Amino acid sequence: MTDTSEPAWFPIALRLDDVRVLVVGGGMIAANKVRLLLAHRAKVDVIATRLDDEMRRWEEDGTITHIATTADESALRAALPGCRLVYAATDDRETNRAVAAIAREMNIPVCAVDDPQPSTFITPAQIHRGLVRIAISTGGAAPVLARRLREQVESSIPEGTGELAIFMQQQREYVGQACPDISRRRRVWETFLDGAGAQAARQNETARARAILDDIIAGTTTRGEVWLVGAGPGDPDLLTLRALHMMQNADSVLYDQLLSPALLDRVRRDAELVFVGKRRNRHTMPQEEINAELVRRAQAGQRVLRLKGGDPFVFGRGGEEIEALLESAIPFQVVPGITAANGCAAYAGIPLTHRDCAQACMFVTGHARADGTLHLPWDSMARPGQTVVIYMGVSALPALCARLEEHGLPADWPAAIVERGTRADQRVLTGTLASLPLQAASAGVGSPALIIVGEVVRHRVISPA
Ligand code: SAH
Repeated sequence: MTDTSEPAWFPIALRLDDVRVLVVGGGMIAANKVRLLLAHRAKVDVIATRLDDEMRRWEEDGTITHIATTADESALRAALPGCRLVYAATDDRETNRAVAAIAREMNIPVCAVDDPQPSTFITPAQIHRGLVRIAISTGGAAPVLARRLREQVESSIPEGTGELAIFMQQQREYVGQACPDISRRRRVWETFLDGAGAQAARQNETARARAILDDIIAGTTTRGEVWLVGAGPGDPDLLTLRALHMMQNADSVLYDQLLSPALLDRVRRDAELVFVGKRRNRHTMPQEEINAELVRRAQAGQRVLRLKGGDPFVFGRGGEEIEALLESAIPFQVVPGITAANGCAAYAGIPLTHRDCAQACMFVTGHARADGTLHLPWDSMARPGQTVVIYMGVSALPALCARLEEHGLPADWPAAIVERGTRADQRVLTGTLASLPLQAASAGVGSPALIIVGEVVRHRVISPA
């Protein structure tokens, strides 16, 4: 049952161009409303004995009309006819209520600011992207909640939504003529919104968006695309908004063991999840097979998400994957992610550079070749004044530390290892080149783990509880 003691607010969008609106009040609360009204091209009259600075400037340049009087009954009865809306926006609740009573009696919609009870309309919190408007209201019950919800909704609207709406507006008549059947027309738009066309329109690439739209209308698109997306080191809060958006729009998702399960939870429920990593007793799917799988799925018209731990272009073989896509003329997009070095450093409290001791930072791979040897630029790694971050170095940790010492770093040179960085079960060990291999072995450190070598490790700081 509906609660009849609460007002039943019905959301409508009102056209304000050249509509006369009366605002009662000359202070900041009133100014906030006037600013909003002016942005919507209303004609604003203000009743107030005095005006704050911003309002005075509007009055001086003729933007608003000032009726310099107290908001008593006779002033209101004189000013109200001809106004189509009223804001009672003084800082005095009783005055606002008195204004609201008169406006209601004269059948003019009125909003007493921050006081829904005497009001006949309210102004919701708004998200505004070009033609797109989203209003959020709690009926005046909890403005802070409304604001929080607005932030949440706002962050889930992709960049370029305003441009997309304009494109669709411009093409509406054309699509209407090309597809007179209304349900087919809707399917065309839905296909368009799901694919590369909408993305092109968001980025203002109108010609490309139109070509894709034409393909959809002609029924010739089976072209899918591949999104090569960095998912960050594990904590789902470190996903980019774009990554999240793509995870919620993909038809299939190819992932490997580096991807934490918490991340996979964010993928659209009905997307097909395809594991392409190491299986027990089996090797990783060879890179050529992964490339072929990406191409095959895109050619079947899918939007394929290749989701990678960290950043796709940092030890992620992202370069090889896009080369394969290019060879088969598959459209693709690359989305960066937070790489393990950034994630682990931040969550372990170890800065990567520091004015006192590290003017440079180097990312290297500790992955040994098939014959077990490590080919690394040892001389440039074994230098003071810099930080060396080693990816894929867990198994080679003893060899790595030994070689850095051989090339000139002292045995007590600081070093750390971060296991499962940014995840709930992250572990951090700090020590020296001499001690770290044993520490890691006795703690049973496993993959994924990142090694950080350099004096920055001494600057590790953990937040007080
Ligand atoms: N593209 C990834 C790196 C892939 S190589 C990125 O940008 O982060 C795989 C190596 O990354 C692992 O062996 C490990 O050294 C490191 N790594 C990835 N995620 C990690 C994590 N959550 N914690 C520690 N190291 C991680």
